[in-house]
Amino acid sequence: KLYNQVQDLKGSIRVYCRVRPFLPGQFDYLSTVDHIEEGTISINTLAKNGKARKSFHFNKVFGPSATQEEVFSDTQPLIRSVLDGYNVCIFAYGQTGSGKTYTMTGPKELTEQSQGVNYRALRDLFLLADQRKDTFCYDVSVQMIEIYNEQDSFTINTLEIRNSSQTGLSVPDASLVRVSSTSDIIDLMNLGQRNRAVGATALNDRSSRSHSCLTVHVQGRDLTSGNIVRGCMHLVDLAGSERVDKSEVTGDRLKEAQHINKSLSALGDVISSLAQKSSHVPYRNSKLTQLLQDSLGGQAKTLMFVHISPEPDAIGETISTLKFAERVA
Ligand code: ADP
Ligand code: MG
Repeated sequence: KLYNQVQDLKGSIRVYCRVRPFLPGQFDYLSTVDHIEEGTISINTLAKNGKARKSFHFNKVFGPSATQEEVFSDTQPLIRSVLDGYNVCIFAYGQTGSGKTYTMTGPKELTEQSQGVNYRALRDLFLLADQRKDTFCYDVSVQMIEIYNEQDSFTINTLEIRNSSQTGLSVPDASLVRVSSTSDIIDLMNLGQRNRAVGATALNDRSSRSHSCLTVHVQGRDLTSGNIVRGCMHLVDLAGSERVDKSEVTGDRLKEAQHINKSLSALGDVISSLAQKSSHVPYRNSKLTQLLQDSLGGQAKTLMFVHISPEPDAIGETISTLKFAERVA
């Protein structure tokens, strides 16, 4: 059955929508989410001021009570395909505070149950590699890249696991770190989170204004034939998609916002032209899409999680997020 699912996903683009629950203290809010049924989400577009419904359709919609395990379970076939030599991109899209990092990494206080897609994907990857150890020998390496202000300063932060007291900065040929277990990668990701957190205080929550990409490269050697298969998986926690009010921000903050808008719309353009099987795919319009070019399109598989917040105050962003997502679906 899994094999068939993998076949179905060949060269595919899937879009899943996830609604986060209200946060502690928000008990008196009324959700803008009216109704969820399989792949359809119906929104009250008037939020507080009456009722007007609009529905959006996706491959799947996860409501506020969906667990991390449920959200991951449909992602599992993609992990297997990485070991078979396919390239995979998994994106988290949405406004700041809508749950992107929760889906990809998990909450701040991480438990085994609350671990996000990144941890689960890596655990599965090593588990599957181990199951195949009599026929395949796999080599896994990872890269953590942060893309910030991509147009005029394309910054790549590479985090070295071998020397955890040091974090390399601005290395265009980001070096690969070889890993042999999930815990190596968890160490690396923790280091990455810490690095992002440091940046947060210094640069006013930079994490919401940069794309964070964990790339896992897999090389497998068939022990009988000697053939090599290569696959890679990009796990991308995108910058917040919120539009900033141009009358309120100026200078660097405005420039950042424009870079984010540019790269997110470039990503939308690439995915929607792939979805429409268009002959020209505009990869070159942003650093993000250039970086991911080999893993978007062709035989590659793309999964986008779009996140929305249920608060009435977020209705404007919620609708623009859903419109963006429907365009790429
Ligand atoms: P983003 O990365 O999009 O800015 P976060 O992932 O940081 O958003 O989520 C914002 C807050 O909401 C965090 O406190 C997070 O723990 C919480 N949260 C998000 N999604 C969920 C969820 N599905 N269940 C419980 N709490 C969540
Ligand atoms: Mg985040």
